[in-house]
Amino acid sequence: MKSIGILGGGQLGRMLALAGYPLGLRFRFLDPAAEAPAEQLAERVAGAYEDLESLQQFAAGLDLVTYEFENVPVSTAHFLEQRLPVLPPPAALAAAQDRVAEKLFFQKASLATAPFETVDGHDDLAGAIERIGLPAVLKTRRYGYDGKGQVILRRHDDVTHAWEKLGGVPLILEAFVAFEREVSLLAVRGRGGETAFYPLVENHHCDGMLRLSLAPAPGLTSELQGEAEELGRRVLEALGYVGVLAVEFFQTTGRRGKGASGRLLANEMAPRVHNSGHWTIEGAETSQFENHLRAVLSLPLGGTACVGHSAMVNLIGVVPDSAAVLGIPGLHLHLYGKSPRPGRKLGHLTLRSADPDALQERLERVRSLVEI
Ligand code: AMP
Repeated sequence: MKSIGILGGGQLGRMLALAGYPLGLRFRFLDPAAEAPAEQLAERVAGAYEDLESLQQFAAGLDLVTYEFENVPVSTAHFLEQRLPVLPPPAALAAAQDRVAEKLFFQKASLATAPFETVDGHDDLAGAIERIGLPAVLKTRRYGYDGKGQVILRRHDDVTHAWEKLGGVPLILEAFVAFEREVSLLAVRGRGGETAFYPLVENHHCDGMLRLSLAPAPGLTSELQGEAEELGRRVLEALGYVGVLAVEFFQTTGRRGKGASGRLLANEMAPRVHNSGHWTIEGAETSQFENHLRAVLSLPLGGTACVGHSAMVNLIGVVPDSAAVLGIPGLHLHLYGKSPRPGRKLGHLTLRSADPDALQERLERVRSLVEI
Protein backbone atom coordinates (compact mmCIF):
# COMPACT_ATOMS: atom_id res chain seq x y z
CA MET A 1 0.00 0.00 0.00
CA LYS A 2 1.55 3.30 -1.13
CA SER A 3 1.66 6.22 1.31
CA ILE A 4 1.26 9.70 -0.12
CA GLY A 5 2.24 12.83 1.76
CA ILE A 6 0.29 15.98 0.98
CA LEU A 7 1.53 19.47 1.81
CA GLY A 8 -1.60 21.36 2.86
CA GLY A 9 -4.61 19.85 4.59
CA GLY A 10 -7.52 21.81 3.14
CA GLN A 11 -10.52 20.63 1.17
CA LEU A 12 -8.41 19.87 -1.89
CA GLY A 13 -6.33 17.46 0.18
CA ARG A 14 -9.46 15.96 1.63
CA MET A 15 -10.87 15.31 -1.85
CA LEU A 16 -7.53 13.86 -3.00
CA ALA A 17 -7.71 11.38 -0.12
CA LEU A 18 -11.34 10.54 -0.91
CA ALA A 19 -10.28 9.74 -4.49
CA GLY A 20 -7.22 7.81 -3.36
CA TYR A 21 -8.77 5.36 -0.91
CA PRO A 22 -10.44 3.26 -3.64
CA LEU A 23 -6.98 2.97 -5.25
CA GLY A 24 -5.66 1.48 -2.01
CA LEU A 25 -3.60 4.53 -1.05
CA ARG A 26 -2.78 5.94 2.37
CA PHE A 27 -2.34 9.62 3.16
CA ARG A 28 -0.55 11.89 5.60
CA PHE A 29 -0.93 15.68 5.62
CA LEU A 30 1.24 18.55 6.79
CA ASP A 31 -0.64 21.72 7.68
CA PRO A 32 0.03 24.25 10.44
CA ALA A 33 -3.57 25.59 10.57
CA ALA A 34 -5.74 25.18 13.65
CA GLU A 35 -8.36 23.36 11.59
CA ALA A 36 -7.55 21.13 8.61
CA PRO A 37 -10.46 19.54 6.69
CA ALA A 38 -8.22 16.65 5.65
CA GLU A 39 -7.46 15.51 9.20
CA GLN A 40 -10.95 14.10 9.57
CA LEU A 41 -9.82 11.47 7.04
CA ALA A 42 -6.12 10.92 7.64
CA GLU A 43 -3.14 11.55 9.88
CA ARG A 44 -2.02 15.19 10.03
CA VAL A 45 1.29 16.61 11.21
CA ALA A 46 0.37 20.03 12.59
CA GLY A 47 3.75 21.69 12.07
CA ALA A 48 5.05 24.70 10.19
CA TYR A 49 6.23 24.12 6.62
CA GLU A 50 9.67 25.46 7.56
CA ASP A 51 10.07 23.33 10.69
CA LEU A 52 12.63 20.62 9.88
CA GLU A 53 11.50 18.36 12.71
CA SER A 54 7.90 18.46 11.44
CA LEU A 55 9.11 17.83 7.89
CA GLN A 56 11.07 14.78 9.02
CA GLN A 57 8.09 13.45 10.97
CA PHE A 58 5.87 14.08 7.93
CA ALA A 59 8.26 12.41 5.44
CA ALA A 60 8.99 9.25 7.45
CA GLY A 61 7.79 6.19 5.56
CA LEU A 62 6.13 8.06 2.69
CA ASP A 63 6.48 6.95 -0.94
CA LEU A 64 6.08 10.41 -2.42
CA VAL A 65 4.98 13.94 -1.64
CA THR A 66 2.58 16.17 -3.52
CA TYR A 67 0.75 19.40 -2.64
CA GLU A 68 -2.70 20.84 -2.51
CA PHE A 69 -1.56 24.36 -1.59
CA GLU A 70 0.76 26.39 -3.81
CA ASN A 71 2.16 28.73 -1.19
CA VAL A 72 4.25 26.01 0.44
CA PRO A 73 7.80 27.46 0.65
CA VAL A 74 9.86 26.23 -2.31
CA SER A 75 12.68 25.47 0.17
CA THR A 76 10.34 22.96 1.88
CA ALA A 77 9.77 21.16 -1.42
CA HIS A 78 13.54 21.12 -2.08
CA PHE A 79 14.26 19.76 1.41
CA LEU A 80 11.77 16.92 0.89
CA GLU A 81 12.98 16.29 -2.66
CA GLN A 82 16.35 15.20 -1.28
CA ARG A 83 14.57 12.36 0.52
CA LEU A 84 11.73 11.26 -1.77
CA PRO A 85 9.97 12.17 -5.03
CA VAL A 86 8.13 15.52 -4.82
CA LEU A 87 5.60 16.01 -7.63
CA PRO A 88 4.63 18.30 -9.35
CA PRO A 89 8.24 19.58 -9.63
CA PRO A 90 9.05 22.39 -7.15
CA ALA A 91 9.88 24.67 -10.14
CA ALA A 92 6.12 24.81 -10.77
CA LEU A 93 5.58 26.14 -7.23
CA ALA A 94 8.21 28.82 -7.77
CA ALA A 95 6.62 29.91 -11.06
CA ALA A 96 3.11 30.09 -9.59
CA GLN A 97 3.89 31.86 -6.30
CA ASP A 98 4.85 35.22 -7.71
CA ARG A 99 2.60 36.94 -10.24
CA VAL A 100 5.53 38.55 -12.03
CA ALA A 101 7.48 35.28 -12.29
CA GLU A 102 4.27 33.60 -13.46
CA LYS A 103 3.65 36.16 -16.23
CA LEU A 104 7.29 36.01 -17.36
CA PHE A 105 7.02 32.21 -17.40
CA PHE A 106 3.84 32.39 -19.52
CA GLN A 107 5.49 34.75 -21.96
CA LYS A 108 8.58 32.51 -22.22
CA ALA A 109 6.27 29.59 -22.98
CA SER A 110 4.60 31.75 -25.68
CA LEU A 111 1.30 32.32 -23.86
CA ALA A 112 -0.18 35.80 -24.22
CA THR A 113 -0.90 37.71 -20.98
CA ALA A 114 -2.35 41.10 -20.11
CA PRO A 115 0.32 43.86 -20.29
CA PHE A 116 1.89 44.33 -16.84
CA GLU A 117 4.47 46.35 -14.92
CA THR A 118 6.40 45.54 -11.76
CA VAL A 119 5.77 48.02 -8.93
CA ASP A 120 8.46 47.71 -6.25
CA GLY A 121 7.65 50.96 -4.48
CA HIS A 122 5.50 54.06 -4.62
CA ASP A 123 7.92 55.76 -7.02
CA ASP A 124 7.23 53.10 -9.66
CA LEU A 125 3.47 53.51 -9.59
CA ALA A 126 2.94 56.70 -11.61
CA GLY A 127 5.18 55.47 -14.46
CA ALA A 128 3.48 52.05 -14.45
CA ILE A 129 0.04 53.68 -14.68
CA GLU A 130 1.23 55.87 -17.52
CA ARG A 131 2.51 52.89 -19.49
CA ILE A 132 -0.40 50.51 -18.73
CA GLY A 133 -3.21 53.09 -18.72
CA LEU A 134 -6.47 52.93 -16.76
CA PRO A 135 -8.46 50.93 -15.89
CA ALA A 136 -5.86 48.61 -14.43
CA VAL A 137 -5.60 46.10 -11.60
CA LEU A 138 -3.02 46.53 -8.83
CA LYS A 139 -2.18 43.22 -7.15
CA THR A 140 0.27 41.91 -4.57
CA ARG A 141 2.86 39.73 -6.27
CA ARG A 142 2.54 37.00 -3.66
CA TYR A 143 -0.12 35.38 -1.45
CA GLY A 144 -3.13 36.79 -3.32
CA TYR A 145 -6.07 34.42 -3.65
CA ASP A 146 -9.82 34.59 -4.14
CA GLY A 147 -9.61 38.27 -5.10
CA LYS A 148 -7.67 39.19 -1.93
CA GLY A 149 -4.65 41.42 -2.40
CA GLN A 150 -5.95 43.30 -5.43
CA VAL A 151 -7.68 46.57 -6.24
CA ILE A 152 -9.11 47.83 -9.52
CA LEU A 153 -7.92 51.30 -10.48
CA ARG A 154 -10.57 52.98 -12.61
CA ARG A 155 -9.56 56.63 -12.13
CA HIS A 156 -6.46 58.42 -10.89
CA ASP A 157 -8.46 59.16 -7.71
CA ASP A 158 -8.42 55.44 -6.86
CA VAL A 159 -4.65 55.32 -6.59
CA THR A 160 -4.25 56.69 -3.05
CA HIS A 161 -6.75 54.25 -1.57
CA ALA A 162 -5.20 51.33 -3.50
CA TRP A 163 -1.73 52.25 -2.28
CA GLU A 164 -2.97 52.51 1.32
CA LYS A 165 -4.50 49.06 0.99
CA LEU A 166 -1.68 47.25 -0.78
CA GLY A 167 1.49 49.35 -0.58
CA GLY A 168 4.54 48.15 1.33
CA VAL A 169 4.92 44.81 -0.45
CA PRO A 170 6.05 44.07 -4.02
CA LEU A 171 3.17 44.69 -6.44
CA ILE A 172 2.22 44.18 -10.06
CA LEU A 173 0.05 46.48 -12.16
CA GLU A 174 -1.93 44.68 -14.86
CA ALA A 175 -3.98 46.17 -17.66
CA PHE A 176 -7.69 45.58 -17.02
CA VAL A 177 -8.90 42.97 -19.49
CA ALA A 178 -12.42 43.52 -20.84
CA PHE A 179 -12.88 39.79 -21.25
CA GLU A 180 -15.85 38.03 -22.80
CA ARG A 181 -15.70 35.37 -20.14
CA GLU A 182 -13.28 33.51 -17.88
CA VAL A 183 -12.41 29.92 -18.67
CA SER A 184 -10.02 27.42 -17.15
CA LEU A 185 -8.20 24.40 -18.43
CA LEU A 186 -7.47 21.40 -16.25
CA ALA A 187 -4.49 19.58 -17.68
CA VAL A 188 -2.74 16.45 -16.46
CA ARG A 189 0.66 15.00 -17.34
CA GLY A 190 1.98 11.64 -16.23
CA ARG A 191 5.53 10.72 -15.25
CA GLY A 192 6.11 9.26 -18.71
CA GLY A 193 5.09 12.54 -20.39
CA GLU A 194 1.56 11.45 -21.44
CA THR A 195 -1.04 14.22 -21.26
CA ALA A 196 -4.81 14.58 -20.98
CA PHE A 197 -7.05 17.66 -20.90
CA TYR A 198 -10.53 18.19 -19.54
CA PRO A 199 -13.00 20.22 -21.62
CA LEU A 200 -12.69 23.97 -20.90
CA VAL A 201 -14.79 25.24 -18.01
CA GLU A 202 -16.58 28.62 -17.85
CA ASN A 203 -16.08 30.36 -14.51
CA HIS A 204 -18.08 33.10 -12.81
CA HIS A 205 -16.50 35.09 -9.98
CA CYS A 206 -17.93 37.58 -7.54
CA ASP A 207 -15.52 39.83 -5.63
CA GLY A 208 -12.69 37.78 -7.11
CA MET A 209 -14.03 34.52 -5.66
CA LEU A 210 -15.20 31.61 -7.81
CA ARG A 211 -18.95 31.10 -7.43
CA LEU A 212 -20.03 29.00 -10.40
CA SER A 213 -18.34 26.76 -12.98
CA LEU A 214 -20.09 25.38 -16.05
CA ALA A 215 -18.62 22.31 -17.75
CA PRO A 216 -18.18 22.03 -20.61
CA ALA A 217 -18.04 25.81 -21.17
CA PRO A 218 -21.28 26.66 -23.02
CA GLY A 219 -20.76 26.90 -26.78
CA LEU A 220 -17.30 25.31 -26.53
CA THR A 221 -15.91 24.69 -30.01
CA SER A 222 -13.22 22.17 -30.90
CA GLU A 223 -11.19 25.14 -32.17
CA LEU A 224 -11.19 26.91 -28.79
CA GLN A 225 -10.54 23.63 -26.95
CA GLY A 226 -7.64 22.93 -29.32
CA GLU A 227 -6.21 26.40 -28.71
CA ALA A 228 -6.43 25.94 -24.93
CA GLU A 229 -4.85 22.48 -25.08
CA GLU A 230 -1.97 23.79 -27.16
CA LEU A 231 -1.31 26.48 -24.53
CA GLY A 232 -1.73 24.02 -21.68
CA ARG A 233 0.69 21.61 -23.31
CA ARG A 234 3.34 24.34 -23.55
CA VAL A 235 3.04 25.00 -19.82
CA LEU A 236 3.22 21.30 -18.93
CA GLU A 237 6.25 20.70 -21.16
CA ALA A 238 8.11 23.84 -20.07
CA LEU A 239 7.87 22.71 -16.43
CA GLY A 240 8.40 18.97 -17.01
CA TYR A 241 5.16 18.87 -15.06
CA VAL A 242 3.63 15.80 -13.40
CA GLY A 243 0.11 15.87 -11.97
CA VAL A 244 -2.94 18.08 -12.50
CA LEU A 245 -2.40 21.74 -13.35
CA ALA A 246 -5.05 24.42 -13.84
CA VAL A 247 -4.58 27.43 -16.12
CA GLU A 248 -7.07 30.30 -15.86
CA PHE A 249 -7.65 32.30 -19.02
CA PHE A 250 -9.50 35.45 -20.01
CA GLN A 251 -11.35 34.71 -23.24
CA THR A 252 -11.35 37.80 -25.42
CA THR A 253 -12.62 38.58 -28.89
CA GLY A 254 -9.24 39.90 -30.03
CA ARG A 255 -7.19 38.03 -32.58
CA ARG A 256 -3.52 38.23 -31.74
CA GLY A 257 -0.46 36.13 -32.42
CA LYS A 258 0.09 33.77 -35.27
CA GLY A 259 -1.32 30.29 -35.73
CA ALA A 260 -3.83 30.02 -32.92
CA SER A 261 -6.55 32.63 -33.06
CA GLY A 262 -5.16 34.14 -29.85
CA ARG A 263 -8.39 34.60 -27.94
CA LEU A 264 -7.02 33.28 -24.66
CA LEU A 265 -4.93 35.42 -22.32
CA ALA A 266 -3.29 33.46 -19.49
CA ASN A 267 -4.19 35.01 -16.11
CA GLU A 268 -2.77 32.55 -13.62
CA MET A 269 -1.99 28.91 -13.02
CA ALA A 270 -2.30 26.58 -10.07
CA PRO A 271 0.16 23.67 -9.81
CA ARG A 272 -2.47 21.48 -8.17
CA VAL A 273 -6.05 20.33 -8.40
CA HIS A 274 -8.35 23.34 -8.67
CA ASN A 275 -11.75 24.60 -7.53
CA SER A 276 -12.89 24.91 -11.17
CA GLY A 277 -12.32 21.15 -11.52
CA HIS A 278 -14.55 19.97 -8.67
CA TRP A 279 -17.32 19.14 -11.15
CA THR A 280 -15.12 16.30 -12.47
CA ILE A 281 -16.02 14.17 -9.42
CA GLU A 282 -19.44 13.46 -10.89
CA GLY A 283 -19.20 15.16 -14.29
CA ALA A 284 -16.19 13.48 -15.90
CA GLU A 285 -15.09 9.96 -16.58
CA THR A 286 -12.23 10.35 -14.07
CA SER A 287 -12.08 13.08 -11.44
CA GLN A 288 -9.22 15.59 -11.35
CA PHE A 289 -8.32 14.18 -7.91
CA GLU A 290 -7.99 10.60 -9.15
CA ASN A 291 -6.08 11.72 -12.24
CA HIS A 292 -3.64 13.72 -10.13
CA LEU A 293 -2.92 10.63 -8.05
CA ARG A 294 -2.66 8.43 -11.14
CA ALA A 295 -0.18 10.88 -12.68
CA VAL A 296 2.16 11.16 -9.68
CA LEU A 297 2.06 7.39 -9.14
CA SER A 298 2.95 6.51 -12.78
CA LEU A 299 -0.44 4.87 -13.27
CA PRO A 300 -2.27 5.20 -16.63
CA LEU A 301 -4.28 8.44 -16.82
CA GLY A 302 -8.06 8.12 -16.77
CA GLY A 303 -10.49 9.47 -19.38
CA THR A 304 -11.28 13.18 -19.16
CA ALA A 305 -14.50 13.29 -21.20
CA CYS A 306 -17.59 14.94 -19.69
CA VAL A 307 -20.45 12.77 -18.55
CA GLY A 308 -23.29 15.10 -19.47
CA HIS A 309 -23.33 18.81 -18.53
CA SER A 310 -22.32 20.01 -15.08
CA ALA A 311 -22.62 23.11 -12.94
CA MET A 312 -20.54 23.49 -9.78
CA VAL A 313 -21.62 26.01 -7.16
CA ASN A 314 -19.37 27.01 -4.26
CA LEU A 315 -20.96 27.20 -0.82
CA ILE A 316 -19.43 30.33 0.69
CA GLY A 317 -20.01 31.45 4.28
CA VAL A 318 -23.21 29.47 4.79
CA VAL A 319 -24.25 25.88 4.20
CA PRO A 320 -27.76 25.28 2.87
CA ASP A 321 -30.10 22.73 4.35
CA SER A 322 -28.91 19.36 2.99
CA ALA A 323 -32.41 17.94 2.63
CA ALA A 324 -33.54 20.94 0.59
CA VAL A 325 -30.70 20.91 -1.94
CA LEU A 326 -30.55 17.13 -2.22
CA GLY A 327 -34.19 17.21 -3.33
CA ILE A 328 -33.03 18.70 -6.64
CA PRO A 329 -32.51 15.92 -9.21
CA GLY A 330 -28.92 15.31 -10.30
CA LEU A 331 -27.45 17.29 -7.39
CA HIS A 332 -24.45 16.14 -5.35
CA LEU A 333 -23.40 17.83 -2.12
CA HIS A 334 -19.82 18.07 -0.81
CA LEU A 335 -19.23 19.59 2.64
CA TYR A 336 -15.67 20.12 3.82
CA GLY A 337 -16.17 19.86 7.58
CA LYS A 338 -15.12 23.51 8.18
CA SER A 339 -16.61 25.90 10.73
CA PRO A 340 -18.73 28.56 9.01
CA ARG A 341 -17.23 32.03 8.63
CA PRO A 342 -18.24 34.79 6.19
CA GLY A 343 -16.35 34.46 2.92
CA ARG A 344 -15.10 30.95 3.69
CA LYS A 345 -15.49 28.10 1.18
CA LEU A 346 -17.43 25.51 3.21
CA GLY A 347 -18.38 23.11 0.45
CA HIS A 348 -19.67 22.88 -3.08
CA LEU A 349 -22.47 21.26 -4.96
CA THR A 350 -22.46 19.81 -8.41
CA LEU A 351 -25.49 19.49 -10.65
CA ARG A 352 -25.23 17.10 -13.55
CA SER A 353 -27.67 16.47 -16.37
CA ALA A 354 -27.62 14.95 -19.83
CA ASP A 355 -29.74 17.89 -21.00
CA PRO A 356 -28.31 21.46 -20.77
CA ASP A 357 -31.81 23.00 -20.53
CA ALA A 358 -32.72 20.77 -17.60
CA LEU A 359 -29.41 21.77 -15.99
CA GLN A 360 -30.30 25.48 -16.23
CA GLU A 361 -33.73 24.81 -14.78
CA ARG A 362 -32.21 22.98 -11.82
CA LEU A 363 -29.64 25.70 -11.39
CA GLU A 364 -32.52 28.14 -10.94
CA ARG A 365 -33.81 25.93 -8.14
CA VAL A 366 -30.35 26.02 -6.56
CA ARG A 367 -30.35 29.83 -6.81
CA SER A 368 -33.48 29.95 -4.65
CA LEU A 369 -31.59 28.11 -1.88
CA VAL A 370 -27.98 29.25 -2.28
CA GLU A 371 -26.47 32.64 -3.03
CA ILE A 372 -24.38 32.22 -6.19
P1 AMP B 1 -6.84 36.49 -9.84
O1 AMP B 1 -6.54 36.39 -8.39
O2 AMP B 1 -5.73 37.05 -10.66
O3 AMP B 1 -7.39 35.19 -10.41
O4 AMP B 1 -8.06 37.51 -9.95
C1 AMP B 1 -9.35 37.23 -9.44
C2 AMP B 1 -10.41 37.71 -10.39
O5 AMP B 1 -10.29 39.15 -10.58
C3 AMP B 1 -10.28 37.14 -11.79
O6 AMP B 1 -10.88 35.88 -11.87
C4 AMP B 1 -10.99 38.21 -12.61
O7 AMP B 1 -12.40 38.07 -12.49
C5 AMP B 1 -10.57 39.49 -11.93
N1 AMP B 1 -9.32 40.01 -12.56
C6 AMP B 1 -8.06 39.73 -12.18
N2 AMP B 1 -7.16 40.33 -12.98
C7 AMP B 1 -7.86 40.99 -13.91
C8 AMP B 1 -7.49 41.79 -15.04
N3 AMP B 1 -6.22 42.04 -15.35
N4 AMP B 1 -8.50 42.30 -15.80
C9 AMP B 1 -9.80 42.08 -15.49
N5 AMP B 1 -10.20 41.35 -14.43
C10 AMP B 1 -9.25 40.79 -13.65
